[in-house]
Amino acid sequence: MPVGHIAERVDRGSRISRDEALELYTSAPTGLLGRLADGVRRRKHPAGVVTYIIDRNVNYTNVCIARCRFCAFYRPVGSSEGYTLGFEEIFRKIEETIRLGGAQLLLQGGHNPDVPLKWYEDLFSAVKQRFPDFRLHALSPPEVIHISRLSQLPVPVVIDRLVEAGLDSIPGGGAEILVDRVRRILNCYNKATADEWLDVMRHAHRAGLRTTATMMYGTVETLEERLEHLFRLRDLQDETGGFTAFIAWSYQPEHTELGGVEATGVEYVRTLALARLVLDNFDNLQASWVTQGGKVGQLSLAYGANDMGSVMIEENVVRAAGAEYCMDEFEVVRNIENAGFTAKRRNMHYDILGEPVFRLRDVPRMHELAVARSDGEAGEAEDLRAYEARSADAKRRRI
Ligand code: SF4
Repeated sequence: MPVGHIAERVDRGSRISRDEALELYTSAPTGLLGRLADGVRRRKHPAGVVTYIIDRNVNYTNVCIARCRFCAFYRPVGSSEGYTLGFEEIFRKIEETIRLGGAQLLLQGGHNPDVPLKWYEDLFSAVKQRFPDFRLHALSPPEVIHISRLSQLPVPVVIDRLVEAGLDSIPGGGAEILVDRVRRILNCYNKATADEWLDVMRHAHRAGLRTTATMMYGTVETLEERLEHLFRLRDLQDETGGFTAFIAWSYQPEHTELGGVEATGVEYVRTLALARLVLDNFDNLQASWVTQGGKVGQLSLAYGANDMGSVMIEENVVRAAGAEYCMDEFEVVRNIENAGFTAKRRNMHYDILGEPVFRLRDVPRMHELAVARSDGEAGEAEDLRAYEARSADAKRRRI
């Protein structure tokens, strides 16, 4: 079907097919894609509000046995640069987050064989005891699968136990591209196949959790495979309705085994716009300023995004692959308002929490994002000694 006819169908609110999506992706001018995606954004969010959340990306460990070829963050078991945070360090990060107006941790980490299920349960319960209103948006599907394998318990049981301990929602990390051909090349097939990733989300949604969905594009996938990813998400959303938002970012190649080059800004906005058109059952699309920078992040608001993501406070994973952007709440709001929208603070469920915090009280400006350990030291926290280790290296240390 010619691009013009597909555009008319999108304008009428019709659902597009794979062939139509591919035709738009390959043949539509970028301006047209933006106009169509912006039209969908306006229909879904007519009040002109763009949201954001204040939270903190805490990566509790960088030790990982998965060894994804696109990852510059992980360290193998036994590495002198490996670290695992202790409970007190995490509590301090939560206190700092609350001081800056944040209400949630995005807690993710490597697949560390020496961190058992009990550690997560104890951590989550302790967080909820100290900070009852604070939310834990934690453990991407591959981490849940890793914990399920370590504990030899089925995924639904692991999810139930984590929820019981205090898990509030699951971030959509580790999806990369949900096509097994791509996952095998990237060496992320073993951590989770496409079906396994989707199954964790299915179980989470059935357990009453809301989750997000992501896509990391720009490695070895074809355009058809990017679309396969989007359509698999659309199908699961039709089934469960449990996704709150979709976030796309480009592969960051620096310091990775895979190498290569990063996708351009135009490719980013085209991919974002196409996602807005395909994912007609997702309410929210986030701009990924942390990988694209503030200026492309702001432009995303004209290509279908209705959310500026997270103020973030701390970031370790993208920084390890060479991207270092920082925007505090003041900067995020300035970018939203300068693009002609009203900025509102939200939680993970996209409930509006109110006006920007810096307009309500004094908060310190933030000129760089924090890191996992402020002193940069590696090593495992003392409190891990109380937990069972699996690797020979950690067993030796924990005697
Ligand atoms: S992306 Fe995650 S699972 Fe893969 S190597 Fe990095 S830390 Fe491990």
